[in-house]
Amino acid sequence: MAGITVEDLSTVYPNGVRAVDGLDLEIADGELFALLGPSGCGKTTLLRTIAGLEGATDGAVAIGDRDVTRLQPGERRIAMVFQDYALFPHMTVSENIAYPLRVRGVAKSVQQETAVRTAEGLSLGALLDRRPGQLSGGQQQRAALARAVAASAEVLLLDEPLSNLDARLRLEARTFLKKLQRELALTTVFVTHDQAEALALADRIAVMDAGRIRQLGTPREVFQRP
Ligand code: ADP
Ligand code: ADP
Repeated sequence: MAGITVEDLSTVYPNGVRAVDGLDLEIADGELFALLGPSGCGKTTLLRTIAGLEGATDGAVAIGDRDVTRLQPGERRIAMVFQDYALFPHMTVSENIAYPLRVRGVAKSVQQETAVRTAEGLSLGALLDRRPGQLSGGQQQRAALARAVAASAEVLLLDEPLSNLDARLRLEARTFLKKLQRELALTTVFVTHDQAEALALADRIAVMDAGRIRQLGTPREVFQRP
């Protein structure tokens, strides 16, 4: 388990777009943190830079006391779930969940045990042999979360994790995500452009604009009008 420290971070794309611009942020161990803001303000880039998927142009990102910009991909204990779930379509639910363990060379029996245990925890126990195409949106989302959790990451990064769900599934998924996060006390950062979602889920919210944080606080602090 670990908090996240972002220090004077800038991420500039090769085309010159400064998507993250001298940003400072401290996320506590076990916190459920929302990055909120309009399209194009830099939320996804910040998340991808924390994940090490984009290189930092300037500044530093630390998970616990380790500078993640210096870690090899295999050493990162970060799980990221994307909007489209990014499940491998040709693999079963079980294989999908076990995938990060397989990549790390974990024994096959441990892969299987972990997949079963995690799937059962997320009410996917009966669906282990299905492929993503045979699951509902909510089930796919849970499978993607199961894969992230099974990887025993210390940090969970979610990019618009609920935006592809219909309204009913979204409510269900919110409840589920909150419960999971509380149980695992995983430091979790999720990106959203939906105020209601940030309000319903987050311990704290950062409102971004043009690569910087404009507002930071609890939902009450951020949404309270003076
Ligand atoms: P958000 O997630 O808030 O919508 P993004 O981080 O996706 O914002 O984008 C921030 C800015 O960076 C935008 O101006 C976007 O056009 C630009 N951008 C995003 N990805 C790339 C890329 N791969 N190459 C160049 N510019 C990019
Ligand atoms: P291999 O088993 O050949 O070493 P990997 O372990 O990297 O390959 O991947 C296992 C399977 O997952 C492969 O069939 C590969 O095509 C697929 N795969 C890996 N990464 C992705 C991805 N980002 N999107 C879709 N499929 C992927």
